[in-house]
Amino acid sequence: MKSQKKDIRSLTKEQLRDVFVANGDKAFRGNQVYEWLWNKGAHSFDDMTNISKATREMLDANFVINHIEVDSMQRSKDGTIKNAIKLHDGLIVESVLIPTEKRTTACVSSQVGCSLDCKFCATARLKRMRNLNPDEIYDQVLAIDQQSRLYHDHKLTNIVFMGMGEPLMNYNNVIKAIDKITSPEGLGMSAKRITLSTSGVPKMIKKMADDEVKFNLAVSLHSAIDEVRTSIMPFNSTFPLKDLKEALEYWYEKTNRKITYEYVVWRGINDRKEDIDALVAFCKHVPAKVNLIEYNPIDDGEFQQASDRALNNYISNLEMHDIVVNVRRSRGKDIDAACGQLANKS
Ligand code: SAH
Repeated sequence: MKSQKKDIRSLTKEQLRDVFVANGDKAFRGNQVYEWLWNKGAHSFDDMTNISKATREMLDANFVINHIEVDSMQRSKDGTIKNAIKLHDGLIVESVLIPTEKRTTACVSSQVGCSLDCKFCATARLKRMRNLNPDEIYDQVLAIDQQSRLYHDHKLTNIVFMGMGEPLMNYNNVIKAIDKITSPEGLGMSAKRITLSTSGVPKMIKKMADDEVKFNLAVSLHSAIDEVRTSIMPFNSTFPLKDLKEALEYWYEKTNRKITYEYVVWRGINDRKEDIDALVAFCKHVPAKVNLIEYNPIDDGEFQQASDRALNNYISNLEMHDIVVNVRRSRGKDIDAACGQLANKS
């Protein structure tokens, strides 16, 4: 039978303190338990050695600690680590550690599966099963921070929400997780080192601006022409470029922070001169830079990386218009850990 006990990590620190007060104990106990739950990663009340046995039993009678587990781990030749993370209900998501010379980046998931249907993305082939809870997002980061310390001798430096799922379709939980990640009581990481990547949900981009979030925004653009974008990212028919553009203008007005466009160039899809011109024009609306991402094939041959010539055309045209452009090589391809390859193959 499914446990009726409440997930203790759904409580705020204040609520946890109240539990103890209601039980005739000191509110301060709540702080101690909170630390066990969020900083020391306790998986059971019995781990909480500075808490009396009677109190541990009271907690155990009323609450569960839902926690994630690294179900399996694969290491790529280039040092990238892909983790299959098992959630308390048995579902699996994937999270990746990407090392570069000076940094380690955690690529984390926000949903089990994805509600969007980007034609080039492996995750889109899994239907969306559910949103991740704040603690499930936070715990992925915690697990990868531990791997960073273990394999790279330093703590995690960056986080990207580019794993499975669309973070803006699970906004509240993602924000709660980021609050915890950046709080001194959590991991104390700077929001400047966090990037949320979205396929572009205009209403939610505006909400983020209103909420004055401090992390960075990346948008998976892939085309600045509506017909092309709709053919590869069908939800674009609901959120057309005009609305996206307006939301991004709003974002920049409020935050003054540059946007990153992620962009893959595919043969015969968006490798024409008019595709480049449209991107250049789109980049004029708000200050932005472009990351040209290498395509990571997902089984069928419908999508193919464009020629170097097409890529170079993009680069020279963007640079001619003073738009910063980076070419991002994929990491972890040999273990299906690269962008768009997360699909629970294991
Ligand atoms: N839903 C969010 C985050 C997940 S995808 C978003 O759309 O931004 C993370 C990035 O990988 C996105 O830029 C996405 O467009 C890109 N991507 C998806 N499939 C890919 C593939 N097969 N090869 C390269 N990049 C891919």
